[in-house]
Amino acid sequence: MYEFRSEPLVYLPLIDTRFTTMTQNNSEAEQNETVAMEIAHGLIDFIDASPSPWHAVASAEALLQANGHTRLSEGERWELKEGGRYYVVRGGASLIAFVMGSKPIVESGFRIVGTHSDSPGFRVKPNAALAGEGLARLAVEVYGGPILATFTDRDLSLAGRVVLRTATGQEARLINFERPLLRLPNLAIHMNRDVNEQGLKLNKQTELPMILAQLNEGDDAEAHLRKLLSDAAHADGTGADVADLLSWELAVYDVQKASLWGANEEFIASRQLDNLASGYAALTALIAAEQPAATCVTALFDHEEVGSESAAGAGSSFITDVLARISGHAKLDEEDRQRAMAHSFFISADMAHAYNPNFPNAYEPGHKVKVNGGPVIKTNANQRYTTNAETAARFISFCEKAGVPYQQYAHRTDIGCGSTIGPIVASQLGVASVDVGSPMWAMHSARESAGVHDHAYMIAALLAAFDS
Ligand SMILES: [Zn+2]
Repeated sequence: MYEFRSEPLVYLPLIDTRFTTMTQNNSEAEQNETVAMEIAHGLIDFIDASPSPWHAVASAEALLQANGHTRLSEGERWELKEGGRYYVVRGGASLIAFVMGSKPIVESGFRIVGTHSDSPGFRVKPNAALAGEGLARLAVEVYGGPILATFTDRDLSLAGRVVLRTATGQEARLINFERPLLRLPNLAIHMNRDVNEQGLKLNKQTELPMILAQLNEGDDAEAHLRKLLSDAAHADGTGADVADLLSWELAVYDVQKASLWGANEEFIASRQLDNLASGYAALTALIAAEQPAATCVTALFDHEEVGSESAAGAGSSFITDVLARISGHAKLDEEDRQRAMAHSFFISADMAHAYNPNFPNAYEPGHKVKVNGGPVIKTNANQRYTTNAETAARFISFCEKAGVPYQQYAHRTDIGCGSTIGPIVASQLGVASVDVGSPMWAMHSARESAGVHDHAYMIAALLAAFDS
């Protein structure tokens, strides 16, 4: 279980420590370096504890509760106080946290940062156990768009939630095996002679089942799997009856912990940097926002990697419902609610593509984004990103106020551009919006990379937005 590792983050104005620490022994720069490292370790702990979107929300809850946020239930009446800190969970893997501002919402509106809790990978099918050739294999579905080849020959495991029958009804429990449990072995190069020229191609139906166990004569693979899951769900010692295991949603993940790497430990390698790095930054900024004038909101949405169309995703009513309830408690009539929205600002925070000099032709030459170069403002004329001239300028003002660098990104015109929750949420709320993100390499790999300093920069910029 995730435990918040330190006191609420002490915010220092951050400057570009990469250069200042090398050229002058500036104590402010040294402090910033310390803060950046501290934040990087906080991020590492957060991701290590969050191998599935359900765990990410549990980690977010732990972080919020340790910092004075109260959980609200969508099924209960809410009591909201000025300056109060709250959060609400929908569907187990989407969370919206907020801080009630000191100024009337009708005057200051909402400051909203939206991110996502899910990451691409694999999900275990309902009838998953495959038996044959003395092996039990696990049938999986591809979730979103992972780089399949990067999951081969890794120490894979399972985490997610199972639902159990109980004496009084049903109960969802989180499970996480933490140890290497599954494997997707490569084919030897002797049987796949062109692999280095052609790349590794995997058929999603026939070549992704993962090896789970060696079976003895007469072993029932399905029973084997159900026992494993049932035992994991009863790790607290409560009685385990396999028949009470009703259903599951389980993500496959790589058990290797996140690490700092590079000659000066200036980079982070981890699974799920997309998009838990943004989620962690948005949560940290919200926690650090002390008595903000505007009502500040941080959202982590499930199902971004599969299009956001679900009951709890960014395409759902979740964000509009929460904002409507807050407005209702502020006694806003319909006209004042619309006035509040007109004064609001939405930042969609998702990771950005950093330039990789080994692949120069993949990038727009005028928009080479640097790791540790600061938050990236993403622009796309076809509205795959929500940024416009006014909202970009507004985000630049936040970076300037926070004393952090910023960068601009546009995708190559001859390659299709990705998208994120930005346009989906912005078109529902109708508020001024910008798409931003921290730079990273190898997006959707089992092991992604990013910069240590970018996370401190992003938190500082988002905090400036909450304070605006
Ligand atoms: Zn993403």
